[in-house]
Amino acid sequence: MASESVKVVVRCRPMNQRERELNCQAVVTVDCARGQCFIQNPGAADEPPKQFTFDGAYYMDHVTEQIYNEIAYPLVEGVTEGYNGTIFAYGQTGSGKSFTMQGLPDPPSQRGIIPRAFEHVFESVQCAENTKFLVRASYLEIYNEDVRDLLGPDTKQKLELKEHPEKGVYVKGLSLHTVHSVAQCERIMETGWKNRSVGYTLMNKDSSRSHSIFTISIEIYTVDERGKDHLRAGKLNLVDLAGSERQSKTGATGERLKEATKINLSLSALGNVISALVDGRCKHIPYRDSKLTRLLQDSLGGNTKTLMVACLSPADNNYDETLSTLRYANRAKNIKNKPRINEDPKDALLREYQEEIKRLKAILAQHMSHGSLAAMLSSQAPPKPVQVEEKPLPTPVIQQDTEAEKQLIREHPSPPELPEPSDTSSEAEVSNSDLPLSTLMDLVTEVTNEMESTAEPSSWMEAEAEAAQGTQPQPLHPVGSLRKENVGVEVAVLTEELLDQQKVLARLQLLEQQVVGGEQAKNKDLKEKHKRRKRYADERKKQLVAALQNSDEDSGDWVLLNVYDSIQEEVRAKSKLLEKMQRKLRAAEVEIKDLQSEFQLEKIDYLATIRRQERDSMLFQQLLEQVQPLIRRDCNYSNLDRIRRESCWDEDSGFWKIPEPIIIKTSLPVVPTGQQNKSARKTSAPDNGEPNMVRPMGAGRVGRGLCSHSEGASIATGKGATFIMPKD
Ligand code: ADP
Ligand code: MG
Repeated sequence: MASESVKVVVRCRPMNQRERELNCQAVVTVDCARGQCFIQNPGAADEPPKQFTFDGAYYMDHVTEQIYNEIAYPLVEGVTEGYNGTIFAYGQTGSGKSFTMQGLPDPPSQRGIIPRAFEHVFESVQCAENTKFLVRASYLEIYNEDVRDLLGPDTKQKLELKEHPEKGVYVKGLSLHTVHSVAQCERIMETGWKNRSVGYTLMNKDSSRSHSIFTISIEIYTVDERGKDHLRAGKLNLVDLAGSERQSKTGATGERLKEATKINLSLSALGNVISALVDGRCKHIPYRDSKLTRLLQDSLGGNTKTLMVACLSPADNNYDETLSTLRYANRAKNIKNKPRINEDPKDALLREYQEEIKRLKAILAQHMSHGSLAAMLSSQAPPKPVQVEEKPLPTPVIQQDTEAEKQLIREHPSPPELPEPSDTSSEAEVSNSDLPLSTLMDLVTEVTNEMESTAEPSSWMEAEAEAAQGTQPQPLHPVGSLRKENVGVEVAVLTEELLDQQKVLARLQLLEQQVVGGEQAKNKDLKEKHKRRKRYADERKKQLVAALQNSDEDSGDWVLLNVYDSIQEEVRAKSKLLEKMQRKLRAAEVEIKDLQSEFQLEKIDYLATIRRQERDSMLFQQLLEQVQPLIRRDCNYSNLDRIRRESCWDEDSGFWKIPEPIIIKTSLPVVPTGQQNKSARKTSAPDNGEPNMVRPMGAGRVGRGLCSHSEGASIATGKGATFIMPKD
């Protein structure tokens, strides 16, 4: 399988007001043509600047539009073809990550990568021929190693990560929102963004400490020239990472420090994954060390095209952080991914509805043979969405275990509710009927063909266009008036049939509304613009490669192999080369020293964290020791060593599973003198670890392995307690 490197670009923002006021000097420079970035150590002016080469380097005056067109465009285009893609923004707080990902609405050239990706996806979708798409969006954040749904009904609820053998890692319970237009995507993004910031104001936190992931999932259904259909699926992750600054620099203490440490954990896990991937000797890649790396596992060394935008501050007082970002980015570019088109995805919702569509088609075909459909349609052409019944606003599909997901689909049979066109809230834009379709296109064509013989010609596309122009969905038949007019059994039967057909049609039209694609297939200008943008990105890539080749030409090989006209000329050329190599050697020596001191600083940070955690753990240990003698002896928690042994770590939830606290009580049976029964004697010792009477202390749940009934015992229930009594 072909592999490709993670693409990395750097972007240096302009000085901000504070930096200008402090009279900061710019230490970062950029050679855009060669994708090179230089950084000068402000504390050592005599040292040569450090140099890094990337897939692109952008300076203060460059706009997001250029970055998108040059480097992000091919990646997003790939997603509409069935590849997975991920775009990360990395850098210290205030370096321009959100500016790059979300951007500003004005000037338009500074709109962020996320809204540009929406536009791009829908442009590709609309230009596509013989192709239909189901586009869905989700938005989550990871804060303090907790995953939250920014578009869910409860944005504070913590969600769990699950692993599926085919789907890979996913977030259980995450809401997926079907989107039909750029405007819908933007509204969803704004809702999520607001949820992010509102949450933080309430909790006195700020977004620089959380990671957010906006995901656009696309299912693609194509029919080739031979009429064969193909299913593909692509996923685009747009990631705004938390600030990468070192915790010691932030001066955080207490809760804040704890937050910073956790975020550092997630980011350093990302760093460790990158290092392990780049270091060919590593067999184990520590994806499981953090939620972030688990979720982005495929984007790092897996089946994804990945782009990292490393954001930099130019100011001298941020030198350390900027250098650290450059090094991080430099390492990331050596990661090799193995992107491939996701053909025939097993978990595509499209497949789940195949059966239903076949069923609907059969029903419709039956009705059409009666000619009743034609009669019905002749009175009401063109077909318009039918309001089946008034229902509350639809809710989005929630990501479940596959089985649960299938069950959910089974539990929601047709007819579903229609999206309400007048409501502008993002809630209204989503539907619980994520309805893919396979045979829908020819199905609707059949319906319209049938119509054409009896009614004014009108294609389903035109009907859709009309609906899009603001025509309100109308019932095909005014049901009430029909009832009044109808007399006689035949008419009543016909009415019933028509109502059924209306429902079937409504369902089909709903299916049609869920998917998008081909609306602008005949728009030559748009298609040409689309192609031009594709070519532009390709040409830019070629230019960059050529510029880098040119700069390699004055490399050592050429000087050594050249044939010189005179000794003097040879001496001159070789001395120049020697000087250049000496400069390189010095730079490398400085780099080694720098790296060592950086590792040293990192070590200090880690040691400080370990010491703090050790102290925390000691506090708990001491508290336990004080409290233990106070625990009643018939409670299982009086034997803490045993509780420890019975506890186990749950990888999925990230929590310890510990036994429930229970009270073990003994009641001695009344034993006739001289007939002491064996089991009674056995149960008379409450602390021998063989409980024979159990009473949970909590809500009645009994801890694992502690609720065994001893042989020869019967159960009786007392007031608030369950007793296990020996048989007499
Ligand atoms: P981060 O998300 O990395 O913490 P922001 O994106 O919020 O940082 O940027 C911090 C500030 O700098 C914002 O006010 C933003 O508008 C400004 N900024 C960032 N990058 C640029 C840029 N390339 N051009 C102009 N202003 C920028
Ligand atoms: Mg930000």
